[in-house]
Formats: sequence, C-alpha cells, structure tokens
Amino acid sequence: MKFNTRAIHTGQDADPTTGATIQPIHPSSTFTQEEIGKFKSYEYSRSGNPTRKALETCLASLENGKYCCAFSSGMAAISSVLSLLVPGDHAIATEDLYGGSYRIFEWYRTHYGINFTYVNGNDSDNFARAITPATKLIWIETPSNPLTHIVDIAAVAKICRDYSVFLVADNTFASPYLQQPLILGARIVVHSTTKYINGHSDVVGGAVITNDLEIQKALGYYQNMAGAVPGPFDCWLTLRGLKTLSVRMKQHQANALQIATFLRRHPFVEAVHYPGLPDHPQHDLAKKQMSGFGGMVSFRIRGGREEANRFFKSLKVFSFAESLGAVESLACYPAVMTHAAIPKEKREKRGITDGTIRLSVGIEDSEDLINDLMNALDVAQRTA
Ligand SMILES: *Cc1c(COP(=O)(O)O)cnc(C)c1O
Repeated sequence: MKFNTRAIHTGQDADPTTGATIQPIHPSSTFTQEEIGKFKSYEYSRSGNPTRKALETCLASLENGKYCCAFSSGMAAISSVLSLLVPGDHAIATEDLYGGSYRIFEWYRTHYGINFTYVNGNDSDNFARAITPATKLIWIETPSNPLTHIVDIAAVAKICRDYSVFLVADNTFASPYLQQPLILGARIVVHSTTKYINGHSDVVGGAVITNDLEIQKALGYYQNMAGAVPGPFDCWLTLRGLKTLSVRMKQHQANALQIATFLRRHPFVEAVHYPGLPDHPQHDLAKKQMSGFGGMVSFRIRGGREEANRFFKSLKVFSFAESLGAVESLACYPAVMTHAAIPKEKREKRGITDGTIRLSVGIEDSEDLINDLMNALDVAQRTA
C-alpha cells in the first residue's frame, strides 16, 4: 500500500470485539492474565499498550521500518538512542543541531564520558575525517534547525557502512512524507512527533524507528526500563493527526515557498534559508533526497534583538512561540528560545545571530500570512 493509505489504515484495523472503525483508547494500566505465565498480548502499559502499539505500527510503516518505539517526548526518544552508547564511545553530530539535542549530548559527555565531535554537515567528508576507532554513531538532522542545511544522507550512510558506524537521522523537520532516511541507508530514525507527525500543537511525543532487530531489542528494553512512555490518549491524538500528514505537508510547503519568495525580496531581510529556493546552496541535494521542501523557513533581518522584538510584537496571525510543524503558523527567536543552550559565541559562529528568525509556516491562507509578515517587518524597520 502507498503512503496515504498506510497513514490512515496501518495498525488500525477495526476493533475485533466491537467493530469500532477508529482505534479505541485503552487507558488500562494492567491486563488480566489467564493463568500463570499466560496472557493475551499485553500485561502492563509501560511495557506495552494497544493504542500505543497502533501508533508504533503506523509510524514504523511510514518510515519504511520494521520496528518503532514511541516515547513521551522527542527528547525521551533521543535519550533511548543514546542509551546504546557506553563510556568511552565517540559520536559525531552535525553542528547545526536542535538545541535540546546539543544539551543532552553535552550532558552525556560531561557525565558519562561519551565524546561528541560536531562537524559541518554540508560536506560529507567532514564525517569521515572525524571518525576514530571509538566512533559508534553519527547523528544528523536534515534539513537542519534553524538554517535548513542539508546533509547528504546516502553519502553519510555509505561512510557509516565503510567504518561500521551506525547512522541516526532526526527526521522531525522533513516528516516521513517528504524524506525516508532508512531507505537512504540510515539505521535509526528519530522523531519529535510533537511536530509535523501530530501536527496540531496538542501533544508532546517522540518515536524511534529502525529495521535492525538488535537495536529494536535494546530500545524496547530501555523504553520499558526507563518508562518514558506516551499515554494512550496522546497516542490516539497522534494517530489522528498522522492521518492528514500528507495533505498538511502539501499546504505547509506551498505556503512556505510563497513566504520564502516574498521574504527574499523584502529590503529589511538580509538572508533567507529555505531549501525550496533555487539559490539555496543545496537545493539540488534537497531535491534529490526529499520529495518536497517542507514548511520551515528562517531568515535574518537587518537588525538585532530590538528590531526582532518589534517584529514579533507586531505579528497578528503568526504566534510568537516555540515548537513547529503544526497547522498554525509560529515564529520563534532561536537565539533565546530553541538554541539558548548553545553558548552565544558558538551559536553566532554557526550562523544563528541576533537577527535570525525562524518560521514554522502553517496551513492558513498564504495571503494572510504574507500580509502579517509584511506589516511586522515594516514596524521593525520603520523604528530602526
Ligand atoms: C522538538 C525537537 C526535538 C525534541 O522533541 P520534544 O518532543 O520537544 O522533546 C528534537 N529534535 C528536533 C529536530 C526537534 O525539532
């Protein structure tokens, strides 16, 4: 079956006892057993729950994976992958990274002796050069947050195979509708399902998908042991959101391209980052490995924190808020919000300045979004 059909049906057969067409919510924490050592599929909801199972089955299918573990947040999903490492191991990550990922990597470095090297992901050879005999994994985010750098997934996967290192791709920004890293050679895909997968800003969740049984066993063990599992209602909401992923993504990216094009022509805007613009330095690579360019746009205004603040205060349709990937448009200030965990000097070296603004373009009417941005840019500029 193809993507949209799987998004709506996989793992979601009619309920065998009642015929309910929509997956029931199973809040039960425990499941009655028949005799010693004999139970149906579930015993306790930390180790497994039918509503969670439906979500895991659907997500695995959409990422072209065999297995999925769902978690109570993207960060819980990320920590499950880090639990595969032991003291002395080395990992390589792209330097243009979600701030929370950087924060937990640094925690593992200082608390557990796991070393991280950060490289510029634009050039795949940077990964090969950073590999040491202790390297266990390479961690990539593409398109990256917030500057939409693109990592060549297939090229990095080949390097990983050559050196017996496993590749982890955080696919949150693209969503499985636009990019499927397991097909391109990644061993593990990580998601913050809080974002495009749920898509309605009403659930925090995460997931890890793989085709590797050994990895799945370790992740499942960790999921049950550490217990950061999503509740049945959250799983159900996420499943509901997932059904419309493709129609949402189409509208997100149609709006994003119009907005990126508008921003590039605006005199108060110094730079625009969107992989769908033909002059994005990696436009061709994005075209090769993605089936669309997504809904995330960032740009730099001719000004700093004060001008940015005036911009945010003038927005009426966009909400000035953290997070991304939902139907409503959001604007955020990476320097203080998503990327506050990265020291200012390092942050600026990576191109995230006090003039950098990130947009998560929603699915409202693009005219309203552009008018909103036009007005806010005018206010920021006029009083500059
Ligand atoms: C939001 C996000 C995370 C963290 O997920 P939470 O659900 O907030 O815990 C990880 N990676 C990326 C790329 C994200 O955008």
